[in-house]
Amino acid sequence: MRGRVGEEAGADRVGANRGTDAGGRLLEAYRLLLDAFGPQGWWPAEGDFEMAVGAILTQSTAWVNVEKAIANLKEAGLMSPEGIEGASLDQLARLVVPSGYFNAKARKLKSLSRFLFEQHGGSLASLFHVKRPGIREQLLSVWGIGPETADSIILYGAHQPVFVVDAYTRRTFSRLGFSSLMASYDQLQRFFADHLEPDVPLLKEYHALIVVHGKSICRPTPLCPRCPLLDLCPYGPARTGP
Ligand code: SF4
Repeated sequence: MRGRVGEEAGADRVGANRGTDAGGRLLEAYRLLLDAFGPQGWWPAEGDFEMAVGAILTQSTAWVNVEKAIANLKEAGLMSPEGIEGASLDQLARLVVPSGYFNAKARKLKSLSRFLFEQHGGSLASLFHVKRPGIREQLLSVWGIGPETADSIILYGAHQPVFVVDAYTRRTFSRLGFSSLMASYDQLQRFFADHLEPDVPLLKEYHALIVVHGKSICRPTPLCPRCPLLDLCPYGPARTGP
């Protein structure tokens, strides 16, 4: 039996069942976020390799810092598996300084390029031909790539259906009463997979909307009176005052 987090079993998938069930509430939340923020058009990248590099560099930092590091790599002519493979660790570390944790991130970029050359002839397209769960297992075997980074690459790079869980997902959906903050990454991901159709455009847009909402509204101290999800949220009314 597939596990679920914090909601009733037996609810149908989004698109097939709406109303008070978990799938219907997830779809309603998606539509409210889309109405409020509009299509996000993620992932912001020129090409698949830049997307994968961005997924690594965005770990523990704001996107604005990633953009500076990506610009540095492109200006140096290193935004390719060959470029990363041929660069020294010191050179890479200097270029990705704006993204923070630059020594570790330089090593992670190196480990990605090494993996691509050792197992896919340096071709990201070859990796993307591997279907789940194989592609996920391969990515998770690369040093420095964890579940969130792997799933981001699978969804936005390989265009395969997977739900990306991040800190914004955890915070927002915990407050919405869907899941426990103590749930593991895999439990949360399974909860969404159980209730959403494996629709790649929907999954891409939903994750992007959760991020923009989490950054701007459902912050550590949430701005509930301005939240498009207020009517769905058991936590919000307590913060809006009488
Ligand atoms: S109402 Fe408040 S707590 Fe609930 S989702 Fe919105 S911002 Fe977050």
